[in-house]
Amino acid sequence: MDVSRKKNKEEKLATVNFRINRQEPHIVVRKELCESGKCPGKPCLEACPAGNYSWDDAAGTLIFNHEGCLECGTCRFICPLEAIEWNYPRGGFGVIYLWG
Ligand code: SF4
Repeated sequence: MDVSRKKNKEEKLATVNFRINRQEPHIVVRKELCESGKCPGKPCLEACPAGNYSWDDAAGTLIFNHEGCLECGTCRFICPLEAIEWNYPRGGFGVIYLWG
């Protein structure tokens, strides 16, 4: 395999485009559960391939942005507190894979 043709994660994500619905996010996170101190390991922080979840240590808050979501559904299933309300984006919105 030609390693010079391998792309890193950021390069691959740059090949994806999105039509973003800012009025109706397709994922809603009940952050009060995430910030309750009851979530074991916060798996969404590592599992999301788009890196849409992060944790603000100083504030003790979850940071989430549905923009850039690849619609893989991982966060929906991995959340141990079932804090994630997940739907596909409404028609005409969501991820657009430009090059497969
Ligand atoms: Fe990230 Fe996948 Fe959840 Fe979208 S569906 S936020 S890409 S884990």
